[in-house]
Amino acid sequence: MKATVDDSCIACGLCVDVCPEVFKMPDSAEIAEVIVDEVPEADQGTCREAADGCPVEAIHLTD
Ligand code: SF4
Repeated sequence: MKATVDDSCIACGLCVDVCPEVFKMPDSAEIAEVIVDEVPEADQGTCREAADGCPVEAIHLTD
């Protein structure tokens, strides 16, 4: 599974709190950054949680 963040991100930080294995807030803090190419099996649950919880639906997951 791969994750991407589009530019509708409002940098609320929720995804970073829920799934820091996949998401990071860069110092510029404009939009969250995905720090892995493939989301590891063990992190897919929290990654989906982050995507579901994103207030602006900026996180997109593909298989
Ligand atoms: S939860 Fe959504 S809006 Fe918040 S930082 Fe992550 S991608 Fe951006």
